[in-house]
Order: sequence, then C-alpha cells, then structure tokens
Amino acid sequence: MCRRNIGNTCVKYANIKDMDLCNLSYEEVKEIASKCQKCALSQTRINVVFGHGPVPCDIMLIGEAPGADEDEQGLPFVGRSGKLLTQILESINIKRPDDIYIANTLKCRPPGNRTPNPSEQEACWPYLEAQLNLVKPKILLLSGTPSVKRVLKIDEPISKIRGQWFKLPGYPDISVMPIFHPSYLLRNPQKTKGSPKWLTWQDMIEVKNALEYLKKVKELSE
Ligand code: SF4
Repeated sequence: MCRRNIGNTCVKYANIKDMDLCNLSYEEVKEIASKCQKCALSQTRINVVFGHGPVPCDIMLIGEAPGADEDEQGLPFVGRSGKLLTQILESINIKRPDDIYIANTLKCRPPGNRTPNPSEQEACWPYLEAQLNLVKPKILLLSGTPSVKRVLKIDEPISKIRGQWFKLPGYPDISVMPIFHPSYLLRNPQKTKGSPKWLTWQDMIEVKNALEYLKKVKELSE
C-alpha cells in the first residue's frame, strides 16, 4: 500500500536511502518527521505536530494543519477549536487522547494559518500514509475541506458532503466521513435545526452508531 519513499531526513537515518516509511515503527516515523525539512514550513514552525493518540486505534481524525496553539505545544487540536472538538467527541463518549488518534494533513503550521497548499500536502503525505498504515483505523473522520480534498481527492465543499460515508481509495476497510472543522463551528455557533452545529450533532450520532456496530462485530468474531 505504502510506496512513497523519503530521502535522508535526519542524521540517525542518513545512511538509509529511499527509505520506505511504512516499514518503520511509529516512533521511528515520528522521529524522522520531527526533523523534516521537505517543505518551506520547516523554516517557520516552532514544533512538528505529528499526531496524538493510541496506535493502533479504531477511529482516527485528520484535520488540515496545526494553528498557533498547536505549533507552540506540539499537539494537534489544542486551543479553542481543540476544546470544542473534545466536547463534540465526548458527546458520543470518545475521550481524548485514549479513544481516538488525531493528526493533520500537514505536520507544520502554515504562516498566519493560511490554507495548506497542494505541494506542502504532497510533501507531507508520506507521513500521513505511514500513520494510516500504523494506526489502522476502521473509521476515519476528515475535518474541514482541505483534508477532504487531500485524503479523499473530492473537490466538493464540506457542506455538501459532510455526514456521508465514503471508502478511502486503496483502503477498503476504512470508512470515511467528512465533518465540519471545529473552527468553522466556532464561527457559526447557532444550534438551530439545519445549522452547522446541529448537523455536526447528527454526524456524531452516525459515528456513534458505526462504532457500536464495529464493537458488536468484534464481539461476535471473538
Ligand atoms: S509540513 Fe510536513 S513535509 Fe513540510 S516540513 Fe513539515 S513535516 Fe516536512
């Protein structure tokens, strides 16, 4: 599945050429990413925000890129939007960091929180691909349009495709649902029927049902 190679990205691995990240352990991939200079964002970041949560894990969420708080702390989805994400997940009994693995399409913050550009996402993809192979989620939530575009390769506004299930190309075991990004929900706080927050609640009920189904299938196969 994972065919991308990455060149020499840190001193420890300097003698390994065209290394296939998917043959490495989680900690090894994380260490390589921590010293990555494959795109210009390496020049402006404070920290590489690799990802956080259990490995493997049945559910994974991919956002777009670290913001200022994430860059400072080296963790994904902290700050105001992170707090809202935590509340949204807790509403269906998913506790961070124990029950969900969280990452972004980019590991470094774009200056001024601008939208990731395709070349940066392309450069960073091997890390995300390795994470998908190591975390092995059954359910994947894509938060925000840039992550949907990069991971599912669908060029539709999130408002049109949120709440629908997709299959991840090349990963038949992973069911994918696009959801609104929490920072969008912070800008649209109304909870009336049909509002982004109300729709996100409907999406979370779907996710809860999918997790319960997964749990039952697991119990039956034991
Ligand atoms: S964004 Fe990704 S590819 Fe670019 S420097 Fe950071 S880790 Fe490397």
